[in-house]
Amino acid sequence: MRKIIKAKCLACDKLNLSKDEIGINKKLLGEEVKEFYCLECLATYLEVNVEDITDKIEEFKAEGCKLFD
Ligand SMILES: [Zn+2]
Repeated sequence: MRKIIKAKCLACDKLNLSKDEIGINKKLLGEEVKEFYCLECLATYLEVNVEDITDKIEEFKAEGCKLFD
């Protein structure tokens, strides 16, 4: 049974973050993080573009990263 994660963005309170969003938080901020940013706020936090983040997600998926199953 797949666990349903109801996470919300730490910064803007956007609800129901996607698995991709949670996965990339863990990849970039550490697997132990308990609080997550949505893509927009993560990009702001890291001072990059949202496209940079989505590119990273695609890269990790292509590598077969388990966080994006
Ligand atoms: Zn946000």
